Amino acid sequence: IIRIEKASKWFGAFQVLTDIDLQVKAGERIVICGPSGSGKSTLIRCINHLETVGRGRIVVDGIELTGHQRRNIDAVRREVGMVFQQFNLFPHLTVLQNCTLAPMHTRGVSRAEAEETAMKYLRRVRIPDQAAKYPSQLSGGQQQRVAIARALCMNPKVMLFDEPTSALDPEMVKEVLDTMISLAEDGMTMLCVTHEMGFARSVADRVIFMADGRILEQAPPQPFFSNPTHPQLRAFLGQIL
Ligand code: ATP
Ligand code: MG
Repeated sequence: IIRIEKASKWFGAFQVLTDIDLQVKAGERIVICGPSGSGKSTLIRCINHLETVGRGRIVVDGIELTGHQRRNIDAVRREVGMVFQQFNLFPHLTVLQNCTLAPMHTRGVSRAEAEETAMKYLRRVRIPDQAAKYPSQLSGGQQQRVAIARALCMNPKVMLFDEPTSALDPEMVKEVLDTMISLAEDGMTMLCVTHEMGFARSVADRVIFMADGRILEQAPPQPFFSNPTHPQLRAFLGQIL
């Protein structure tokens, strides 16, 4: 469902991504890890065109993202949900309004239908009772679950997560990971940048290690963790495990 071919990107003279090749099939769960500054966020931001690649190709569900055609960008964004480290909820809108805004305004869904869908996903992430509150009235874990519900309200084919638990207090990490695990069990295609290696082990079909803008290793979790071949990956796992 995602095909990235020889993608490279520069910020000025600095090359942040180098010859990234990555294919993701529908239903696959991918975990991306690697040191700070290795280009993980930049890579997944390219998948919904929050960033553009300088060279190479990105195709999402058959839609070419490499040019700058507004229609293609909009089409891809309708299929790709994204959850950030800093929840990025609209502070002046209630939880319910956060979830209904995009479906009503970009999809022309009626308010009644958007609210019904929103409540369905708020139940799904187990916070339907928070629908009338504002984000500032919720815990971090609850806010992140709203962000996940909000993304799901657009009925995406792919979900991108960029360190969704790293801004959370430890006791709230589990509730967000549990939500992600349940999404994975339902067959959602997921790309997750995370250092939660327990999550990677139990959920990922493939774990990818990035360093200095390159994919240095990708393998199913079992060989990835027990038999890392690249020395930089061995050093990295030594630090975080
Ligand atoms: P972290 O684990 O800290 O989130 P990351 O792997 O997600 O790191 P990126 O955020 O993709 O790394 O950044 C990769 C590199 O690109 C970093 O060196 C960063 O300073 C640089 N970079 C990121 N965004 C920009 C930007 N808008 N302009 C210039 N340089 C940038
Ligand atoms: Mg990052």
